[in-house]
Amino acid sequence: DLPEKNDFIRQIIRDDLASGKHDNILTRFPPEPNGYLHIGHVKSICLNFGVAQEFGGACNLRFDDTNPTAEKQDYVDSIKADVEWLGFDWAGDVRYASHYFDKLHEWAVQLIKQGDAYVDFQTPDEIREHRGGFGKPSVESPQRSATVDENLARFDDMKNGKYKEGEAVLRAKIDMNHANMNMRDPVIYRVMHASHHQTGDTWCIYPMYDYAHPLSDAYEGITHSICTLEFEDHRPFYDWVVEKVGFEVPPCQYEFSRLNIDHTLTSKRKLKRLVDMSVVSGWDDPRMPTIAGMRRRGYPAEGLRDFCERIGVSKADGVVDFRQLEFSIRNVLENTASRGMAVLNPLKVTIANFDEAVADFEHLKKDTVKARLDNGVLWLTQPKHPQADNGEREIPFTKTIYIDKSDFEITPPDGYKRLSPENPEIRLRNSYVLKVEEHIMDANGDVVELVATIDPKTLGNNPEGRKVKGVIHWVSASHGVSATVRLYEHLLFEDGEISDEHIATVKTQNPDADDDTLWVLTHVNPNSVKVVNAIVEPSLAQAKGDDKFQFERESYFVADSVEHSTDKPVFNQIVGLKDGFK
Ligand code: ATP
Ligand code: MG
Ligand code: MG
Repeated sequence: DLPEKNDFIRQIIRDDLASGKHDNILTRFPPEPNGYLHIGHVKSICLNFGVAQEFGGACNLRFDDTNPTAEKQDYVDSIKADVEWLGFDWAGDVRYASHYFDKLHEWAVQLIKQGDAYVDFQTPDEIREHRGGFGKPSVESPQRSATVDENLARFDDMKNGKYKEGEAVLRAKIDMNHANMNMRDPVIYRVMHASHHQTGDTWCIYPMYDYAHPLSDAYEGITHSICTLEFEDHRPFYDWVVEKVGFEVPPCQYEFSRLNIDHTLTSKRKLKRLVDMSVVSGWDDPRMPTIAGMRRRGYPAEGLRDFCERIGVSKADGVVDFRQLEFSIRNVLENTASRGMAVLNPLKVTIANFDEAVADFEHLKKDTVKARLDNGVLWLTQPKHPQADNGEREIPFTKTIYIDKSDFEITPPDGYKRLSPENPEIRLRNSYVLKVEEHIMDANGDVVELVATIDPKTLGNNPEGRKVKGVIHWVSASHGVSATVRLYEHLLFEDGEISDEHIATVKTQNPDADDDTLWVLTHVNPNSVKVVNAIVEPSLAQAKGDDKFQFERESYFVADSVEHSTDKPVFNQIVGLKDGFK
């Protein structure tokens, strides 16, 4: 039973299994714990864990933690939680490149003994400069011809803390004239007097990512090391170092194109800047494209996985339309999110004949309608979801209700299907047909209240002798609950949406800002969140954090997992109801 997905990675794996090159597939997801995972990582997670699942293999979660100053335990914890939340299991325990520091050190000594590595005392600038390129010839380091014994002693000195940062590095000895700059004696170890979140103060030398990564892959027995295209140029060194250390079954690196989405940052460095500059409330701000942010925003894990499946895997660069992500999210919510009514922009409606009209509801309603009258409140029972088995809710219908201001217009535009003096009748969702008898205006001419009647025979029944077009949502004024509702726009503008004047103004106002800061200041959308005080039906206030809803005729919303409570409900807009993507 071969999987249907047929991208080039899966094709390679299928071929490797068919040819007997591998009997088992082992992949890995290797994040650096220097920030929270984002939507780009979701693609990599779905690919690495996904192929492992499909081909009966396994996937390791390995922290590539070779850069202690940028890394923290908090990031390790968040990354584990995010991968689990996305629905994936890693093989055995979590791995850490830092747990291989002893091995990595032994292999470095082995390389020195083989004549494949040397300690260099040039400054970082000299090393860069002497690598040549762009028309300049390369220059060999004076230490390149040192003996094995000299190098062993110098490397030991590095390890024992004799050197300050930048005074000595260990370099692979390959070819200073190689066409690929990454092969011109790359640095594989550096001095760093820094504490590590896993190994504490045991080490004052740390391996470079390009050295630690292939060897960690090889040591774990990874068969397919899948990464993004920017590592293509690093593959020759990947293969070189695995071969020099002498692994019998070397892992192979394959590159795919990274995910880019419009209006969306896929760089931990810049996302961190948004957090550090307090542009957002944290890594889990619902506007953030981090997994933590998207979870709090109400994106279901299933929707993110569906999105990754739809965009597929290839080597072609491109920018995915943000609406395609929303499409996948909406699809999942459509089938699962309970319905509820919430009025975001309340207009009071007094139903003049309420008591008489509902008194007789038992005789006049349709048999399929479930209702009970209790102390002047008509409780209407409705399923939480039209198809899914989400249970039922009771909606209180009372003499005073709220409808949305935009559902009544004194002078409606063409094609308007809701209430106006010319079209005074409309169906209240889940309830009666309402007729506006009078509208009350304030001194500015704004409508502040409607006086209306309901047709007693229309609970579940069509009105007699006339057609009523349109249905609107409503909430009981006496039993509705006041709620904080957050509406979102893109957090960031695209380059084309920012005027030159704006950029110039920001620059003059922030003369000392670095490039990343300027980037953030110019790109942030000042209207990315709008907070509204809404009235919601009581069943919505009863929600638990992370419960997701369709507020009928509005949008999908989630009860905020941090701030929501029944007393003070807080909802985040997840995504609109309509599909903007064709
Ligand atoms: P960032 O630039 O955001 O820090 P990174 O690649 O440095 O990203 P890592 O933690 O090293 O972050 O990434 C772990 C894995 O996720 C890598 O294999 C990397 O290739 C992959 N990855 C990162 N960003 C994307 C993306 N936008 N699309 C697909 N895969 C990605
Ligand atoms: Mg990285
Ligand atoms: Mg990075």
